[in-house]
Amino acid sequence: MMTGEEYRQSLRRLRRTIYALGERVEDVTGHPLFQDHINTAALTYDLAHDPQHQALLTATSHLTGKRINRFTHIQQDTEDLMKKVQMLRLLGQLTGSCFQRCAGLDALNAVYNATYQVDQKYGTDYHRRARDYVARAQDADLMCEAGMTDPKGDRSLRPSQQADPDLYLHVVERRKDGIVVRGAKLHQTGAVNSHEIIVMPTTALREDDKDYAVAFAVPSDTPGLVFIFGRQTNDQRKLEGELDQGNARYGYTGGEAMVVFNDVFVPWERVFLCGEHDFALVMLEYFSCYHRSNYGACKAGVADVLIGATALLAEYNGVGANPIVRDKLVEMVHLAETLYACANGASATGRATPAGGWWVNPIMANVTKLNTARFTYDLLRLAHDVSGGLVATVPSERDLRHPEIGKYLEKYLKGAGGVPAEHRIRLFRLVEAMSSCPVMLEAVHGAGSPATQRIPMLRQAELDKKVAMARELAGIPAPAPGEAKARG
Ligand code: SF4
Ligand code: FE
Repeated sequence: MMTGEEYRQSLRRLRRTIYALGERVEDVTGHPLFQDHINTAALTYDLAHDPQHQALLTATSHLTGKRINRFTHIQQDTEDLMKKVQMLRLLGQLTGSCFQRCAGLDALNAVYNATYQVDQKYGTDYHRRARDYVARAQDADLMCEAGMTDPKGDRSLRPSQQADPDLYLHVVERRKDGIVVRGAKLHQTGAVNSHEIIVMPTTALREDDKDYAVAFAVPSDTPGLVFIFGRQTNDQRKLEGELDQGNARYGYTGGEAMVVFNDVFVPWERVFLCGEHDFALVMLEYFSCYHRSNYGACKAGVADVLIGATALLAEYNGVGANPIVRDKLVEMVHLAETLYACANGASATGRATPAGGWWVNPIMANVTKLNTARFTYDLLRLAHDVSGGLVATVPSERDLRHPEIGKYLEKYLKGAGGVPAEHRIRLFRLVEAMSSCPVMLEAVHGAGSPATQRIPMLRQAELDKKVAMARELAGIPAPAPGEAKARG
C-alpha cells in the first residue's frame, strides 16, 4: 500500500495533457490549484498506515489474500459495506470535503459484478479481465476515477440519434488488438490526480446504440486523453493565500474535470463491455447505487464539520446557549444522522451478487441520494441562519493584515468574550467554502440527478405488492388472472 507521499510521487511520473484556466499544467503536484484535492486523496493513503485508522482503511483482498487499501476492495459482505460507510464518514469529518476515491472504488465493484453476468449470457471473457484488473489496482494501490457522465447533447434523443455521434463516448474502430474510442466525460471527480480512468455507459442503451455500450479502463496518461480542469467558485483565492480559502488544506470539491477521449486506443485486456447493450443499465445500476449509498456517509461527515462550525460561530456571537439557536443545531444533527442512517440502511440490507460480490439495497441507495440532494440545502440554510451575514461579506485576509485598516477589523469583528476577529473570520470563510455553488450542485447532481433516483424507485418499490396489501385489508378481491388491473 502506498503512503500519501508515494501517491504524490506516483502522480509526478504520469505524463498527461492537462489544462487549467487556459494553460497547460505539467505537474499537478506543484500547482496551487490542485493541492487541496491531492491532499484529500493523499489522506486515503496515509490513514491506511495509521494504527488508529488501519482497521477501517484497509481490507483483505479476496483475490490475493493480501492487505489492501479499502478503496480498492471488492465488497464481500454486509460488514464490508458497513465499514465502508464508517470510513467515508470519518474522512468527511477529517477533510470537510470530497476525497474523490470512492468513485473509482464503486467503478471497480460495478465492473467486477456486471462482467460476470455479461459472460453468463454471452460467453465472453470480461470477468476474467475485470478480476485481473482489480488485482492490479489492489497491488499497485491505484486511485481510479469513474468516467460516467457523457455530454448528452439533445437529451430527448438517444446516443445513436444525436446530430454529433461523439456526444456520447463510443467505439469508432474495432481492431485485432483492441478498440478505439471517441467522446468525452464530464464532471470527473479526482480526474487530474488519479492513476486510471474506468469508463462505463451513462444510460440504458438499445440495439442501435451498441457502439455506445462500452466499458474499459485506461491509465490517465494514455495518448489521446485531454483533461480540462473545471472552474470553481473562488478558485483564484488559491493563488492568494491561506485564510480566505476557508479550508486551504482540503478544499470543498472533488476537483472535477472534463476528460476528452480523442481516438484513444484500449487493448482488449482492458475492455469490460463492447456492444452488449442490454448490460449497459446493469453496470450503470451497480455503480450508481453503490455511489448513491456513499453520499449518506461522506456528506454526513462533512455535515458534522458544518454543524461544528455553526455551533462555534453561535458561541463566538454570544448566542451559543440561546434555545432558538440550539433547536436549529438539533435540526442540523437530525438531518446529518438521517443521511447516515440511510447509508447504513442501504448497506445493512444489501445482498450477494451472482459474481460473489455484495451490493447495496438499491431503493435505499436511491433514497439516500435523494435525501442528500434535499438535506444539503437545508443544512446550509440553517448554518447560514445561525452564522449571520458576515459569511457573505467579511473583508479579505489582506485587509486583516493591512497596517492601516487591519485594526478596524480587529476591533469591530471581535467576538463575544474577546474572541479574536481572526478566529471568527476563519469560521466565516469555512462556512462560505462549504456553501459554495459546486458543493450544492454536487449534492443535487453527483451520482446522478434526482430524476435518475426517482425513475427506478416505483419499480424497486414493487407497487403491485403494496396495492395487494391494501386490497387485502380493505376486503377488495384481487382481479382474476388476465383481468385488466383496474383499480376500481
Ligand atoms: Fe466520495 Fe462523497 Fe466525493 Fe462521492 S461525493 S467521491 S462518495 S467523498
Ligand atoms: Fe460525487
